[in-house]
Amino acid sequence: MSPQSLPAFRSFRVRLPSGVAYWTVLDGELRLVDAADAFLRHLRFGRDSAESTTESYAGATALYLRWCAESGRAWTIGARHLGMFMVWLRHAPRCPSPTPEFNGPGSKPVRGPRRVNAVLAAVREFLKYAVSSGAAPAWVIDQLYETGDSRDLPAEVQGELGIPRGYAKVRHRLHEPDDPVDRASDEEIVALVRACRSARDRLIVLLMARAGLRRGELVGLRRADLHFVLDARPLGCPIPGSHLHIVRRDNTNRAWAKSRSSRAVPADSLLLQAHDQYVIERAGIATAADGDFLLVNLFRGRIGAPMRLGAINELMTSLSRRARLERRIRPHQGRHGFADNIMAAGGQLDELANLLGHASPLSSQPYLHPSHQRLREAVERVPSPRLPRQGE
Ligand SMILES: [Zn+2]
Repeated sequence: MSPQSLPAFRSFRVRLPSGVAYWTVLDGELRLVDAADAFLRHLRFGRDSAESTTESYAGATALYLRWCAESGRAWTIGARHLGMFMVWLRHAPRCPSPTPEFNGPGSKPVRGPRRVNAVLAAVREFLKYAVSSGAAPAWVIDQLYETGDSRDLPAEVQGELGIPRGYAKVRHRLHEPDDPVDRASDEEIVALVRACRSARDRLIVLLMARAGLRRGELVGLRRADLHFVLDARPLGCPIPGSHLHIVRRDNTNRAWAKSRSSRAVPADSLLLQAHDQYVIERAGIATAADGDFLLVNLFRGRIGAPMRLGAINELMTSLSRRARLERRIRPHQGRHGFADNIMAAGGQLDELANLLGHASPLSSQPYLHPSHQRLREAVERVPSPRLPRQGE
């Protein structure tokens, strides 16, 4: 059978009459794959996941179904051979290749360990849902997890009451290289701001570096989310001082604030100035003046339309180049710079977690990048005891 005649499973965006959208999986005849569709609808509507989550899960499920079909397995049986799926994932091209000789082991991996693990995590969710809804047999679960009993664990990690509990560990996972996100230095941020050619771009860089916004939060901001006033009580908001709100909602540009809860982030004078200049710049462009979104296309694309997520990355790449930085600064590195500056200035972990929109301070841990200078100061803050002199 040639690759062209194989069923080409693919993810597909479905927009419901209500305007809400989710992603599903179609087979080669463009028919819905029922088991996958039930799972993805459950994810979107039963678990209130973001459209972008269903997009990545649909993509992963489509890959799994494609591998099952290409290797002649029913998708329930495929769960027995996830190790082979992992090998295939590392080497199979993104679209079925007309030249299969380049697909096999020995060719350069096309997916790294992180990507493979993300696909596996999604496939596990799909298979678990299939078992729970009766579309797949129960033994499938045993193929996904090694189960154990907490009595095998050290006493200190057993349940408080000593009641034995089962635990599960995933069977299939690749080792991921440990390369934590680095922060953008203050010098890099200043260079990026200098390289900006518009007030809008300066505001974008500062919203990441001075307020720690995620890329999705940035392009999802509405004008009404900015309470850049001394007293927001007339607006119905009790929070004192200038601040902005990060609100979780569905956006037409598919931006999505990742946190399930909303948060307010204080805005400093640099942000206020940058915003004032942007308001003037935007008002001068007739087709962009209206609209609820804060960040809109001013120079290319459909003028006045909300900026796309990808446009933020493109901006950071071109600013890094224009500023002649030695590396390309990614949006998240601005957020890391913000977090590190907060802690370097004496911030507490609970403050940081709130500012970053983390439910637990544990999630803020990867944002800590103490410099050598800070580590030295931490040691030097400890008072020295009086030690006996030599011979005393
Ligand atoms: Zn407010």
